[in-house]
Amino acid sequence: MKLKFVTIIGPKVGPASTPENSKDTILEGRCHKGLYPLPLASIKQVFSVDKPSLSRWHDRLGHPSLPIVTRVISSNTLPCLAESNKESVCDACQQAKSHQLLYPRSSSVSSHPLELFFSDVWGPAPCSVGGNKYYVSFIDDYSKFTWVYLLKFKSDVFQRFHEFQNLVERLFDQKIVSMQTD
Ligand SMILES: [Zn+2]
Repeated sequence: MKLKFVTIIGPKVGPASTPENSKDTILEGRCHKGLYPLPLASIKQVFSVDKPSLSRWHDRLGHPSLPIVTRVISSNTLPCLAESNKESVCDACQQAKSHQLLYPRSSSVSSHPLELFFSDVWGPAPCSVGGNKYYVSFIDDYSKFTWVYLLKFKSDVFQRFHEFQNLVERLFDQKIVSMQTD
């Protein structure tokens, strides 16, 4: 059975090319196992209706690098706007592929427990069974031993810190020397 195709592959197909306007058959093909395969020459004929830019091919191909986009275009002789801007910057790539620079290595070394603590408050988190939405951690730089307290309110941090301070200073029988927090 012959099928008259009414589907045009490609973005921004102009009104003169649509079957509704032209009444022309663009492609014809036969059904093969429930599908209508397009011969390669016909695909190029359909693609040639519109010439996408390099950045549009970059989007379509899943955001690969420029050399890969140009290689795919040239090896498959795909239509591409000649005046495409090769310097254009893709927002999605900038956001998704950017990396944070490494932190410089710290030269400070603790020689005993309680010399230096790192503290961090995290939240608001999904409410726990006990109704807590924040977490505060205290990490001993010397032993890396970590204490975590759950908080109902962020303002509970100072009370928790005093409880923690009393606990560890009694435990080690010495004072906390310094605390580092953001
Ligand atoms: Zn991209």
